[in-house]
Amino acid sequence: MIKYLIIPLSDNAVSFCHYNARKGSSATIETETLRKALIWAMKENLSVQFLYPSEGVGKNIELIINTIDHTDIVPADCRDNNRLKGADIVVFNTWDGIETFGFRPDQSYIIRTTTEILINHRDGIQALLKKVNRLNIVVTDVPNFNPELHNGYQEFLESLIPTIVEEYSSGHMVQLNLLTDRIMLTGMNNCNAGNESLTLAPDGNFYTCPAFYFDGFPAVGTTEQGPDIKNPQLYRLSHAPICRICDAYQCKRCVWHNQQLTFEVNTPGKQQCVMAHIERNASRKLLEALRKAMPGFMSETIIQEIKYLDPFDNIKI
Ligand code: SF4
Repeated sequence: MIKYLIIPLSDNAVSFCHYNARKGSSATIETETLRKALIWAMKENLSVQFLYPSEGVGKNIELIINTIDHTDIVPADCRDNNRLKGADIVVFNTWDGIETFGFRPDQSYIIRTTTEILINHRDGIQALLKKVNRLNIVVTDVPNFNPELHNGYQEFLESLIPTIVEEYSSGHMVQLNLLTDRIMLTGMNNCNAGNESLTLAPDGNFYTCPAFYFDGFPAVGTTEQGPDIKNPQLYRLSHAPICRICDAYQCKRCVWHNQQLTFEVNTPGKQQCVMAHIERNASRKLLEALRKAMPGFMSETIIQEIKYLDPFDNIKI
């Protein structure tokens, strides 16, 4: 069942995930399209998330946005200061300005970066974990994740463990999607695009997620007729035979990456699975470290030791 509607307000609206927003166009959603979409969202009782461009949006769009409860996802370089101050989630597409940014406990933050650049910024991430309550790191080059990066990614994640333990011990329960989510989750918590969320793009059509729009995939409906996803079962965990028995609960299970890497929205590529398992295994080490510092911490949670990084390698035919 669809619960969330994501609306990039223009073709250069910030990306909050793995995809890159379309370059070379700043076309903004039409006010009438937006109005119709929000009426539909209200009827369907959906939570609406708006994605903004750096230059902000005009008064007419602002007025319509304010007619509905919503979440604002705003780029860190937004030139509309009020919009940036009021953001629920702030997105960094570059490391420039991170050190001097005024982080606040009531905002969540996303950093979009390539794996190699991330690995080289461990000190910066350690410092950030002391300043924020919620940080999501989104790797933008998952398809390029190769065996040469495995150790570096593992070491990077494990290097954050002492900082997180220190923060938790002092009462600051900082959340980092790559490490703490797996500890807190008791079941799969994936992106669920096409199943729980849909996107209304600036062209006035529905898409599985913003990535499918920016990548040129066909729309899955119009604001006139409503969304119409063919074979909706393929977007569900119940129809993803490997994922549904996996315990990398924090994995995004990105259907756009699946489409890119295997041409099937419900079949993951090796890169996504290996990254998610390195994160899962580092989360296991974090849990052990937290229990040493705080006996009894999350005593119900068990993360088993496993010997594989890709569940497909484990399948016996
Ligand atoms: S790690 Fe692989 S098998 Fe597990 S949920 Fe993610 S994509 Fe699915």
